[in-house]
Amino acid sequence: MRQCRPEESWQQKYLGRVIKVNPLLKQPVTAVKGIGPEKAETLAEINILTIEELLEYLPYRYEDYRLRDLSEVNHEEKVTVEGKVHGEPSLVYHGRKKSRLTVRLLVDRYLVKVVFFNQPYLKQKMSINEIITVTGKWDQHRQTITANEMTSGPYSKEKEFEPVYAVKGTITVKMIRRLIKLAFSQYGNQVEEILPDELLKQYKLMSRKDALRTMHFPLGAEEAKQARRRFVYEEFLLFQLKMQALRKIEREQTPGKKQNYDLERLKKFIDSLPFPLTHAQKRVVNEILGDMKQPYRMNRLLQGDVGSGKTVVAAISLYAGITAGFQGALMVPTEILAEQHAESLSGLLSPFGINVQLLTSSVKGKRRREILELLKNGDIDVLIGTHALIQDEVYFSNLGLVITDEQHRFGVEQRRILREKGENPDVLFMTATPIPRTLAITAFGEMDVSVIDEMPAGRKAIETYWAKQEMLDRVLGFMDKELSQGRQAYVICPLIEESDKLDVQNAIDVHSTLSMYFHERYKVGLMHGRLSSAEKEEVMKAFSANQVQVLVSTTVVEVGVNVPNATFMLIYDAERFGLSQLHQLRGRVGRGSEQSYCILLADPKSEIGKERMRIMTETNDGFVLSEKDLELRGPGDFFGKKQSGLPEFKVADMVHDYRALETARADAASLVQSSAFWTSEKYLGLRMYLEGTGALAGEKLD
Ligand code: ADP
Ligand code: MG
Repeated sequence: MRQCRPEESWQQKYLGRVIKVNPLLKQPVTAVKGIGPEKAETLAEINILTIEELLEYLPYRYEDYRLRDLSEVNHEEKVTVEGKVHGEPSLVYHGRKKSRLTVRLLVDRYLVKVVFFNQPYLKQKMSINEIITVTGKWDQHRQTITANEMTSGPYSKEKEFEPVYAVKGTITVKMIRRLIKLAFSQYGNQVEEILPDELLKQYKLMSRKDALRTMHFPLGAEEAKQARRRFVYEEFLLFQLKMQALRKIEREQTPGKKQNYDLERLKKFIDSLPFPLTHAQKRVVNEILGDMKQPYRMNRLLQGDVGSGKTVVAAISLYAGITAGFQGALMVPTEILAEQHAESLSGLLSPFGINVQLLTSSVKGKRRREILELLKNGDIDVLIGTHALIQDEVYFSNLGLVITDEQHRFGVEQRRILREKGENPDVLFMTATPIPRTLAITAFGEMDVSVIDEMPAGRKAIETYWAKQEMLDRVLGFMDKELSQGRQAYVICPLIEESDKLDVQNAIDVHSTLSMYFHERYKVGLMHGRLSSAEKEEVMKAFSANQVQVLVSTTVVEVGVNVPNATFMLIYDAERFGLSQLHQLRGRVGRGSEQSYCILLADPKSEIGKERMRIMTETNDGFVLSEKDLELRGPGDFFGKKQSGLPEFKVADMVHDYRALETARADAASLVQSSAFWTSEKYLGLRMYLEGTGALAGEKLD
């Protein structure tokens, strides 16, 4: 965590003056009459300590007890009805604990049967010709309600629509309802608005106090929906405000590099490329250049599907920096990738007199010392390598731009190292993992996001097929045919959750099967995570040089490798992979001019599994797939548990409320940019919230 408090604190500058928070709601729950120390302890189990926290403990759904006309209720639907007991209730026991209580009920003009299981005591609560109210499941065919709740007497409007709260430990939903009611009756009036009037009006949102009351005690579904809508917007807006404020402060506080690139030279470079840029490439290049010439530090994420042409965007950006007199660096996760990038970038840049060098751990001794020396003197323009490139003894003369490929491998730590070395370069993160927009603007909310959402023209779509296990013979025949035409193939082995040992074993088994199958005709290589990096390099190089025609691999092959002659991919047990991962794997083929194929070998059991296979065969668009993946797996699982970095929202749902998220993001952006936001009285509530999060002190940066 970095402290970046300037002399005049951001609070002073931006809050204008110190405001008194309404202290009443910050009191411990015991300040509510009727809540004693014992109840307070119970509430503490679900992290409710203050009155405010109790009032803001919102229900996640409602139990609907509204009276309905049976003719409108669907089979198996839950229903509450009121009716007159028609005939003597009958109670039958089966064994000691099991019982069945049956009663006929006249509901409007219907005579229906109501059955209660294992609640014999209810018999005393009903008598002939009296009115009772029951709730249960409606069986239309048998004209029967299997009931679980009953009250004597007519329906009471009071419990028409009841909130259901998340509970655990000793606390019950009933208890929470009661305590919230108590708190609300005593302190509900203290709830203050934090959104400015203009936003409330613009979106016709309920006031905070009304919305809170309605969430807890709604009179109907529509009202509850409106209350929820207000909190969804509030939650997204506050979150986005925090992210945008962080970004603004980071920009204004971090000395960046103003890179005055030479537009004429840059245009010449772009014109020299063997192809015209796509619209999307032009757009993102402009976004990047726009950042580079500003005095603040660029912090940008570049997303583009495999093959969308990120490398050339990187080359243009690096060249721009060089024309401004700066050096550039490109960091990638593996040595093979570093070599590939070094080759393609020096191909593009050397003709323009740019000195591109590769620095990996294999570069040793004299050569290494030489490179380090040249770098320090500013004689190397672009350095390409793995993480080692910004560490230890590596010193740049004037580093202006760092680009990292596969953003998730370059984190906070590396950025700190750069900062401590006194470099404050612009940073561009490139990733081929399409992240759904809703997640990108949430998880990477403090970054700018550029997207290449268009493929270069003339690219052949990879043909994807889903085959059942029993069709393996035919699939291998197909593969054989491709190989006989001089092509190469990847075979990806089953993924075993939480066990790379089994993954490796699988790969070894498949490797020996295929070695036998192709016998002396083709060479089959093996790649997995247990190999040393030198061994991996060796296998990859052999595959690259077509000394090996079939590469059997675990998912380690996933990142960035480019072998254009590989046109065939077979993925075993494809149902075990997520859509995004399948798409990443598939991106290893389809890199040359030949038609490529991807075969998913899978016997999915679930509907979702089948759906995933179908989607894969239908689209090659990584963004469509990632949206689907998000839909099928939910936001929590999308990034995997470890690095989710996603905030938890109380009421809002990133997937279903994405429109509100977009709106809130745009509103937050324009608020943060306006000077009124930082000075005017009407934004006090929002500013106070920001202060509470620590965002204004720059605490959450990096
Ligand atoms: P990725 O985004 O996966 O890194 P690359 O940068 O490796 O993609 O580009 C994939 C291929 O597409 C490369 O061979 C590159 O030369 C080519 N390419 C990039 N941009 C264009 C373009 N605008 N038109 C045609 N081909 C392009
Ligand atoms: Mg790439």
